[in-house]
Amino acid sequence: MDNNHNLFSKAQQFIPGGVNSPVRAFKGVGGDPLFIATAKGPHMVDVNGKSYIDYIGSWGPMIAGHSNEHVLAAVHAAVDRGLSFGAPAEAEVTLAEQICNMIPSIELVRMVNSGTEATMSAIRLARGFTNRDKIIKFEGCYHGHADSFLVKAGSGVLTLGIPGSPGVPKAVADLTLTVPFNDLTCLENLMAEVGDEVAAIIVEPIAGNMNMIEPLPGYLEGMRSLCDQYGSVLIFDEVMTGFRVALGGAQELYGVKPDLTTFGKVIGGGLPVGAFGGRKDIMDYIAPNGPVYQAGTLSGNPLAMAAGSAMINLISEPGFYTYLSGQTQKLVDGLQAVADEAGVPFSSCNQGGMFGLFFTDHKVTGFNDLKHCDEDKFKRFFHAMLEQGVYLAPSAYEAGFVSSKHNDDIIEQTLTAARSAIMA
Ligand code: PMP
Repeated sequence: MDNNHNLFSKAQQFIPGGVNSPVRAFKGVGGDPLFIATAKGPHMVDVNGKSYIDYIGSWGPMIAGHSNEHVLAAVHAAVDRGLSFGAPAEAEVTLAEQICNMIPSIELVRMVNSGTEATMSAIRLARGFTNRDKIIKFEGCYHGHADSFLVKAGSGVLTLGIPGSPGVPKAVADLTLTVPFNDLTCLENLMAEVGDEVAAIIVEPIAGNMNMIEPLPGYLEGMRSLCDQYGSVLIFDEVMTGFRVALGGAQELYGVKPDLTTFGKVIGGGLPVGAFGGRKDIMDYIAPNGPVYQAGTLSGNPLAMAAGSAMINLISEPGFYTYLSGQTQKLVDGLQAVADEAGVPFSSCNQGGMFGLFFTDHKVTGFNDLKHCDEDKFKRFFHAMLEQGVYLAPSAYEAGFVSSKHNDDIIEQTLTAARSAIMA
């Protein structure tokens, strides 16, 4: 009896496409998505009882492994105090203070319920602050599903080949200008033309929604000076990279200070949380201090705040990122060796607990380089790994995530699976 297949058939009767978020649907690789029953440490178990080493980590949050005992204990304790108050509570202050202390560019931070809410609110704030309407984003970057961002976006939008989504009014999409990632000249030229009308440049400082692409040296610095020159707000979307590539996120790694930053994933410890924060003079434009409206019935939810704080405590332990980065490095080095031995063109990218895999020997520095990657090879590799109990992101355009529970044994098991999967 295939419980998974039965559940997916039933899900399709009641849920569009059988999933509540398109990237889960295996559209990029074919086949039925896995329905998960339980998860612990580096493993997830599907409804047929098969166990997988998980390299998705709920798309980022599970940096300390699934069902981490410290996070669970914090949530259990919070449950007993009450699920939601709709009034301020200490847990919100605790998490906000942790974030502000950890990231020098954040003077004030506002909690929301998802990454999309964080980016959407940050853009509204930047527009209100500058009194300008246009924004610039980069081809292949994904900032959630708010109207302004579904223009040449990455992630599921890219996997499904949707250049712009129906339902987004043209008048809104026209305000989102796009340029290729990692091409500073292109950005300089655009800013020379329209810089005075640009409210914000929003960027994933490491692009993680078109596989994983690091910024070229000087690129983020160039963006910073253009924003200073034209009075535009620089927004780093660190929903994925925040607390993932380093404790202080990509801004710490590259030493570039944005005006606003958006967070999600890790700061919720697995519960629905997003946040945006940054310069006090800008953040003071948000209601109730200022005129830019933003709100949320469940924002700062006590369970989510407890999970987030427990997670921040865990990742603040000395040596956490050194170990995590080391394990990610072992994984990508091991996969490179496996591919080299098999004579398969392959390259990779990694920072902290985040990695990208490419079936090409070209150096991938931009969206167009992804065309050189062998997507069919990725699909075969993905399924062969899945068969052997290794769960990679089901798309050639998604980054992968390692947790602190991916110990040497887990990495070795992954590489053993890869040795045969690479021949697929
Ligand atoms: N920004 C980035 C960089 C993301 O990777 C994502 C989600 N993958 C989002 C925003 C949107 O976050 P959410 O799915 O929580 O709305």
